[in-house]
Amino acid sequence: MKWWLIMNKPIQVTNSSMPNFEDFTDEIKDLWESGWLTNSGKKHQKLELELCKYLDISNISLFANGHLALEYVLTAFNLSGEVITTPFTFASTTHAIVRNGLTPVFCDINPVDFTIDTDQIEKLITDKTTAIVPVHVYGNVCNIKEIERIANIYNLKVIYDAAHAFGVKINDQSIANFGDASMFSFHATKVFNSIEGGAVAFKEPNLSPILKSYKNFGITGPESIDYIGGNGKMNEFQAAMGLCNLRNIDEEINKRKIVFERYIENLEGTKGIKLLQPQKAIKRNYSYFPIVLDGYWNSRNKLHEHLKINNVFARKYFYPLTNRLSCYEGRFNKGKTPIAEHIAEKVLTLPLYADLALEDVDQICKIIKS
Ligand SMILES: *Cc1c(COP(=O)(O)O)cnc(C)c1O
Repeated sequence: MKWWLIMNKPIQVTNSSMPNFEDFTDEIKDLWESGWLTNSGKKHQKLELELCKYLDISNISLFANGHLALEYVLTAFNLSGEVITTPFTFASTTHAIVRNGLTPVFCDINPVDFTIDTDQIEKLITDKTTAIVPVHVYGNVCNIKEIERIANIYNLKVIYDAAHAFGVKINDQSIANFGDASMFSFHATKVFNSIEGGAVAFKEPNLSPILKSYKNFGITGPESIDYIGGNGKMNEFQAAMGLCNLRNIDEEINKRKIVFERYIENLEGTKGIKLLQPQKAIKRNYSYFPIVLDGYWNSRNKLHEHLKINNVFARKYFYPLTNRLSCYEGRFNKGKTPIAEHIAEKVLTLPLYADLALEDVDQICKIIKS
């Protein structure tokens, strides 16, 4: 260990974006006058409108967090049987499927952008399959066209886990416009945050009252409860934070881009380190900076440790795979997902956030290359 490489302050994998303190206090001031703190108040309504504009969509439903958004939209589609998904994701994706009483069927990822390998989907379809839940992992866009083609043939619903993909566009079209629905996460660690929070963007306007009801105990009228719902509502303080952060989102993504490009400048061509390649016709959101250590002189775990000693906290996103989680031990056919297996062993996600100093990026890269 070389002492001069040690960072003097810890650098976490991410750091939440905050609005100006005064912007937030201005935004929440009228809550003291109205006393309306949750249940689709003014801030909530405004955030829905603003998000429809920003994401270029007609239908959105806000939730307390991204996980509940996914869980409830799966419920709202009234699915049964099997759902095809990938294990190279956060536990939330698989949990949302299983907590709906559905069986996850694990499809492998492709080695280029780590999204679902669309060549492998059809052979996993059975007469029990009702939906596909693909993940736009790291903000990489899935093969949308091919997924749509398959879903049409077999009459399957497509619900994207777009937790990483806020603000991403393909051929100038918002990522929120594909499939039957897309879930976004507004967790503190994501590109856009409302402290905790999430949303579902969806195609069929009929789904709107159903989602609204499910996230509010299934209530459909003053004396009627038509669904076995729960509580997934976003409150006014979350919505206020969302409104403030949304005003700065383009600047936020631009700052991330600068950090992201600095990493590339430093690491491109380094032996044994594979970088994420940009996809064609995609406007990225620079949400994560994963590197794949293939042929690197040291193991991923050793590098992870070495960075930690130097006060840099990278993350093994995504390890372990969700089909390897102990809570699913012996429950499902885990499926063979060798590419996902390989990437999960080799990937490391480096610190990336809007206010990460470029000198710190240089320093982190020096540690990796030393
Ligand atoms: C963050 C995340 C979620 C869950 O979102 P929360 O807002 O934290 O509940 C789901 N899927 C993926 C891929 C995520 O990264």
